[in-house]
Order: sequence, then structure tokens, then C-alpha cells
Amino acid sequence: MKEAMFYKTFEEWAICQLCPNNCIIKPDHLGICQTRIYRDGKLIALNFGEVSGIQIDPIEKKPLAHWRQGTQILSVGSYGCNLKCPFCQNYRISQEKPRVITMTPEAIVAQAIANDLEAIAYTYNEPTVFYEMVYETAKAAHLKGIANVLVTNGYINEAPLLKLLTYIDAMNIDVKTYDDQKMLDMCGGRLNPVIETIKRAKVMAHVELTMLIVPGLNDNLQEMSRFLAWLFSEVGDMPIHISRYFPVYEYDLPATNIDLMLQMQKVARQYFTYVYLGNVGD
Ligand code: SF4
Repeated sequence: MKEAMFYKTFEEWAICQLCPNNCIIKPDHLGICQTRIYRDGKLIALNFGEVSGIQIDPIEKKPLAHWRQGTQILSVGSYGCNLKCPFCQNYRISQEKPRVITMTPEAIVAQAIANDLEAIAYTYNEPTVFYEMVYETAKAAHLKGIANVLVTNGYINEAPLLKLLTYIDAMNIDVKTYDDQKMLDMCGGRLNPVIETIKRAKVMAHVELTMLIVPGLNDNLQEMSRFLAWLFSEVGDMPIHISRYFPVYEYDLPATNIDLMLQMQKVARQYFTYVYLGNVGD
């Protein structure tokens, strides 16, 4: 654990300023992400140094299709998330506390070097709520000439994003819904901060987007087409990954229909140059 970055105190509370939830936290209580506790006048990042998974993946698995293709990347994650999606495909580490091992930022960088890898991905759980560890590791990695990748829901405030982007070379950002209300109802967050993250990130890093197609949430072709036209006008062209959902956690509707995904790929190609399907067993 470590003192958190990006918070202030007010009377007896801490106000976390890391993500748009801006949690107001009472003494000895946690924020929404369950990774930050206000204790003895300090906000503490509980998961600093706590690694739930570390392994070598192909870069295409992140997914990134237009950045260092054909290379391998060291992937590392912790636990916790600042959203509450009932269809979370990684809920065992995002909504529960898994078994962890303790690692320092330097040990993660050393592991990348020992395996001759040229990049580290902060992934598996939401890296925003692993911020201090990601920041220190990414900084140490750059000093050794190793690049950094964030696989994120993009739900982060401007100041922490800009500070971290100094050391981030590529990102894959999730776009979960086509409208703010659905995002709020389903995931407990807003869409607009995610769109702002995409715009800011695109200036400083290579960015690709992922859209997990969840039945009943974002599987309407007309709505998707309208949204993608708007999204293109807002953020411009970038690779899009349309990903297949499987029933898990609190969501038990059947997996996304592959024919529908093919139709969505066709629709998305009206606006974006590169559109890929993911999780379809290809
Ligand atoms: S990072 Fe966690 S504690 Fe901080 S505002 Fe977001 S959900 Fe709340």
C-alpha cells in the first residue's frame, strides 16, 4: 500500500480526484473501486504492489492491431475497478479481491528486460485504480527504453490522465454504450468522460478502441450506426475492435450472435478504416 495521488481532504472526509466518481470517503471507508481507503488523515492505495496476474501475451491480445504487430508484451494487473458492469468479463479481479503476489515497479521492469520484451501492458483489471503502481512502473520502464500500454475503460479525470500519458505509448480504450443514461444505469459511470479521455489520449499516444457487444445493451444496429457516425466526428479515425460478450458474472443472456457482429463490422466500416472482430474464435 502507498499514499494515493490525486486527493484532497475536507473537514473529516477525503475527496478522491482520480476518476469521475470523485468519491467522498469517510474515515476508515473505501471508495467505489474498493482500492482506496481513508485512514489516519491519508488516502491510501491498498493495491499498490499487489499483482493478481503477470504473463507474456501477444500484443494482438490486448487488443492492439496497429502498434508493434507481431511482438509480445508483458501484461500485468492488480484488482479493483471504478465501474460496476454486470457483464464484466474479468469480474473475479475487478469486483472481487483475488490472490495476489507482491512486486515492486522495478521488479516488473526487470521481468520485461529478462524476457527481452519491449513493452509492458497494464491490463486485466482497470489500471486507473492501480494508478500509483502503473505510474511508477511506467516511469521506470521508460528509463530502460521499454514502452507502456494501458488497457482501460477510460474513466479517469483529466489531471491524472495527462500526468500518466507522459509515459504511455499506446492505449486500448473501452467504449461500453452509445448513451450516457445506459452507461450510468448499467455500469455506474458516464460516457462523456470516456470520450474526453479518447480525445486527450489520441494527442499523446497510439489509441485503439474496443466495443464489447452485449445483448440488450448495445446490440441495436441503427443505434450503433448513429453512435459511430457521431463518434467519428468527435474523435476521428482509429482502429476499432468489436468484441464478443459471453455470459458471466451477473449477466446470463446468450453470447453475442456472430452474424450480428459481422453486420456491425460492416456498419462500422462506413466510418472507420480498420474494424476487427474479437473473441470469435478466429
Ligand atoms: S479511483 Fe476509486 S476512490 Fe477514487 S474516485 Fe474513482 S472510484 Fe472513487
